[in-house]
Amino acid sequence: MPELPEVETVRRGLEPVLVGNSIARVEQRRADLRFPLPRDFARRLAGRRIVSLDRRAKYLLARLDDGEVLVMHLGMTGRLSIDRANGVKLAPGTFVHERTQAPAHEHIVFHLADGTAIRYSDARRFGSMDLIQADALPHHALFKGLGVEPLRPEFTPAWLGARLAGKKAPIKAALVDQRLIAGLGNIYACEALYRAKLSPLRLAGTLATKTGKPTPRAEVLVKGVQAVLAEAIKAGGSTLRDYAGADGELGRFQHRFKVYGREGKPCPRKGCGGTVRRIVQSGRSTFYCPTCQR
Ligand code: ZN
Repeated sequence: MPELPEVETVRRGLEPVLVGNSIARVEQRRADLRFPLPRDFARRLAGRRIVSLDRRAKYLLARLDDGEVLVMHLGMTGRLSIDRANGVKLAPGTFVHERTQAPAHEHIVFHLADGTAIRYSDARRFGSMDLIQADALPHHALFKGLGVEPLRPEFTPAWLGARLAGKKAPIKAALVDQRLIAGLGNIYACEALYRAKLSPLRLAGTLATKTGKPTPRAEVLVKGVQAVLAEAIKAGGSTLRDYAGADGELGRFQHRFKVYGREGKPCPRKGCGGTVRRIVQSGRSTFYCPTCQR
């Protein structure tokens, strides 16, 4: 399942192709993905110029010149591939891997004015697309409750401390709470806590004083979150450039996991000597090293 870095990698791959380009026509091969596609979907997109391509949590937001925004979520298996007019196919993103999907799963094709086609395929159809007025976006049900973007400058130790003060929930649960931090999923929460040497079981409130001032632990955690996301995006980028070698749903970053999926393996931290353990928190697997994460 794509998490924030994978979606951001797709965004960065698509941005230079989409922005400034216009949609000549849309081939819509079915009426729904996870949800019904909006009414007159293809007609409303035809002729529109794409002004920008942003990301909010795991949603891609293509802003159009008529004030609507094409909101896309890739679900579990959604893929966007770039089919250049000269026949060169490019896949923007790490989890857009080589495994060929049957054309039966290609549901939507955006034909751009310069001859490029953006093909959307989705075997399991958990993805979604919608058209929403730009000014309605912040209040829309999908976005109004979403927390801070962890890669934006607003995500600081002071911001985090103010929100964790007094919280009795484990820090892992706070990190994956989308109302607090948008788009940070299970894998990257585990990896960030490892980097910060913080136990996933530690109470969230211990990262702040009673008045909401961040402790040094909040500072290392913010740095850990930012570093792990930045590195994963970078690894996605390298997979993109080296597309033929892409072999996995998380691109190359999966080979850099320190704890995630490594139950029973030795902790990779120099001099630790601990063993990675798996526990279940709120129904999700948490991986951590009980020796160096406190
Ligand atoms: Zn360790």
